[in-house]
Amino acid sequence: MKKRIVLLGATGSIGESTLRVARSLPDHLEIIGLSGGRNTARLLEIAKEFPAARLCAGDEAGAAALRNALPGREILHGSDGLDELASMPDADLVLVAIVGTAGLRPALKALEADKDLAVASKEILVMAGELVMATALRTGSRVLPVDSEHNAIFQCLEGQDPSTVRRLILTCSGGPFRKASANDLASVTPDQALRHPTWSMGRKISVDSATLFNKGLEMIEAMWLFRLPMEKIAVVVHPQSIVHSLVEFLDGSILSQMSSTDMALPIQYALTYPKRYAGPCAPLDLLALGRLDFEPPRTDLFPAIGLARRAGTMGGTLPAVLNAANEAAVDAFLAGRISFPGIWENVERAMDAVPFVEHPTLDQLIEADRAARVCVTG
Ligand code: NAD
Ligand code: MG
Repeated sequence: MKKRIVLLGATGSIGESTLRVARSLPDHLEIIGLSGGRNTARLLEIAKEFPAARLCAGDEAGAAALRNALPGREILHGSDGLDELASMPDADLVLVAIVGTAGLRPALKALEADKDLAVASKEILVMAGELVMATALRTGSRVLPVDSEHNAIFQCLEGQDPSTVRRLILTCSGGPFRKASANDLASVTPDQALRHPTWSMGRKISVDSATLFNKGLEMIEAMWLFRLPMEKIAVVVHPQSIVHSLVEFLDGSILSQMSSTDMALPIQYALTYPKRYAGPCAPLDLLALGRLDFEPPRTDLFPAIGLARRAGTMGGTLPAVLNAANEAAVDAFLAGRISFPGIWENVERAMDAVPFVEHPTLDQLIEADRAARVCVTG
């Protein structure tokens, strides 16, 4: 039987890689719902390729344009439309690949409706990991990681007793400024920050990879997905992005997952779990690679890792504040309003300023998120 998939964020980098996986596994996967944000032209092209899928445009104008071009087809829009797609009765799995926290509500809807949830949008686990995981536990739905590091750890943990894990080791490419000095960082431009050495991704995550906030968010994401405290989560720089992460066990064994630098692989594993098929990801040529390098992260020059460690250790509203302040600061940096180091300076300021709540409700998380954004934008 085919797995029926709803894909939220189809027009983005993860969305396009997901469609590549779906095209290559037509006997196993069927796309039955698709959403896009502002790129209505691309959503229209995708909609034509997947004529059976229900659609959700970013706003009313986008929906009207789609209706014009696709007469007779039902078109939803906005956040209510996302909720409706996420709870489609015949869906088996919902993949959330909307950048930022706009995917949180539909992710919760999917879990409430007993769908498996594949999470690319790490921001939703950073903001509300406790709530997402508690909802999944209550409904019995699975939360399947799409982020390559977490997907690697998920594969390494299969069949293992979680109490035998000594620590998780997240790998990190080091980003475009792995060898930069503090002086170099002070004058980084958006163009330079967007040029990732190993992965081709959306704008926000590319900047996050340059500041190392991407790794910081992933440390908190890992805490929730694998239910481990922050002190069991380590980071090692691995410039080739081939070892996607590692798990160290009590006996000293380390298991890792390796594959080509292509998001199609973790996406496919999340979609077809627990099965494996020959998909679009090119095999890894170890001899062509020759070597794999590992280095410590430069936490003095890149405060993001320390800030994330503090947020993950403290818990409560602090991860949501870190996440929202970072999102607003990345926007401000890309718009030329703040410097590159201004991103972590703003995040730290928001973490110090926004009142802390230890066991927040969803409303308190949303309020902390709002207050953190105001703190950055002034
Ligand atoms: P992207 O910017 O390329 O795409 C984002 C998608 O979300 C687009 O389809 C866009 O139209 C949609 N969108 C944006 N804002 C929206 C809103 N408010 N409402 C509805 N739709 C909206 O981003 P991406 O690189 O594909 O990343 C998506 C998510 O996956 C991010 O959370 C990122 O951290 C995570 N992720 C990405 C990669 C990668 O390789 N690109 C790897 C791991 C994790
Ligand atoms: Mg990642």
